Amino acid sequence: MRVLHVCSELFPLLKTGGLADVTGALPPALAELGCDSRVLVPGFPAFMSGLVEKKLVAELGSKFGAADVRLYLAKTPDNLTTLYVIDAPDLFDRPGNPYADANNQAYADNYRRFALLGWEAATLAEGLDSTWKPEVVHGHDWHSGLAAAYIKAAEISSGHKLASTVLTVHNLAYQGLFPAHVFGELELPSYFFGMNGLEFFDQVSFLKSGLFFSDKLTTVSPSYADEIQDVEQGCGLSGLLGAKNQDLVGILNGVDPTVWNPEIDPILVSKFSVRSMTGKAKCKTALQEYTGLKVQNEFPLFTIVSRLTEQKGLHLVVDGALEIINRGGQIAILGSGEPEIESAFAALAAKYPESVAVQLGYDEDHAHRLVAGSDVIMVPSRFEPCGLTQLYGMIYGTLPLVHKVGGLADTVTDCSLENLADETATGFVFDNFNVQGFNSAARRAFALFARKTEWKKVQKFAMAQDLSWDAAAQKYFDLYKQIT
Ligand code: ADP
Repeated sequence: MRVLHVCSELFPLLKTGGLADVTGALPPALAELGCDSRVLVPGFPAFMSGLVEKKLVAELGSKFGAADVRLYLAKTPDNLTTLYVIDAPDLFDRPGNPYADANNQAYADNYRRFALLGWEAATLAEGLDSTWKPEVVHGHDWHSGLAAAYIKAAEISSGHKLASTVLTVHNLAYQGLFPAHVFGELELPSYFFGMNGLEFFDQVSFLKSGLFFSDKLTTVSPSYADEIQDVEQGCGLSGLLGAKNQDLVGILNGVDPTVWNPEIDPILVSKFSVRSMTGKAKCKTALQEYTGLKVQNEFPLFTIVSRLTEQKGLHLVVDGALEIINRGGQIAILGSGEPEIESAFAALAAKYPESVAVQLGYDEDHAHRLVAGSDVIMVPSRFEPCGLTQLYGMIYGTLPLVHKVGGLADTVTDCSLENLADETATGFVFDNFNVQGFNSAARRAFALFARKTEWKKVQKFAMAQDLSWDAAAQKYFDLYKQIT
């Protein structure tokens, strides 16, 4: 089975969020099952300089405003994944964030940049590389949303099937919306701009294109698959998702054990495992020293590793911080995003330097330090398609404190008395999305932390969860088999 993944990020070469973790880990996990998958990415600088063994596949001339477009075949440095990379310097050779300029403004020509990505996927489905033609084209998020439209258009004009298509929604809130007038530049049949196509309230929606034209839709947790069919979380697309309900499935993300694993993590001052947890205590002390927090182990250290956006529910942490501090707890934060959230956390750190530490920005090493050295990882998101940091927390014995929504609800089991008795508890879950709900979960964390034996037991349950990619990869593979 030959599967082409189409995406804009891939760990470790280019990452702004969980999408990259998934696209980095899923192809090798599929390969383990005998599924031959390759990845198509735009030629952002991180890919052009980071990929190895580049070989020219095709010269494509001018396309979507870019001169001299070329397609290369390449490998990731670890040799685990084979990629096609689109070299189009006019569109992709820009430093920093792949989607936005230095002022965080989305690039005005994003519709051309990601049209080229989708169009290139269709040319591969048509047989551009005579040595490898995908049977399934699997897009990820809105960036790949036009792939299924170009494939459908080519199928209609040629009269035969080119490839089956899958779109995975990693976050429905990001839709790739553009003014209607850009449609003329997309080289699609004019009737594709309509309700049965990529029109979304008089705009062009790349995400809707993928949702409408793909054979199968997946999202990254079963609960989120249900939630996005409701108006409240459907971002205007609940009707379409409900209508395609039979073709929509939630498949939980896994964790890459070569990247997130306390037994081998090179960043940790001391490795640890479920059998020997002394290393974790050393990681906590080292983290407190590194961040300037008071060194103590009487009370829990809470962490956040996150994009600082409204979605993540972090105003609950800002509002609930004093309760944690007054109980002797500490908070260590890593993130970047909306200025109001950044400054609220910075103000807390300035006022309570022994209790709150904040590092603004993106720092992979510090993320590992925080996940390993903390006691509780907070993910109080308003909505959460899957969430990865709560999974990383569990693997490192750092118990998640989460809002009961989406993938958080699917992966964390609250420390209620009955769950403790059943040995299923793995963290602290709150239902009411307000500061009272958040505080009650935080109080449960303090109460459990004071009972060392119980705390250790829950750490053990959490660390024993099977969060590997094997199960998810098998589900994707089964889905591909259904449609080919
Ligand atoms: P999302 O995709 O919505 O950002 P996820 O929880 O699915 O949320 O994935 C977030 C990923 O990004 C995790 O791998 C997390 O460790 C990482 N991450 C988020 N913020 C930072 C940061 N400031 N520095 C380093 N890694 C970060």
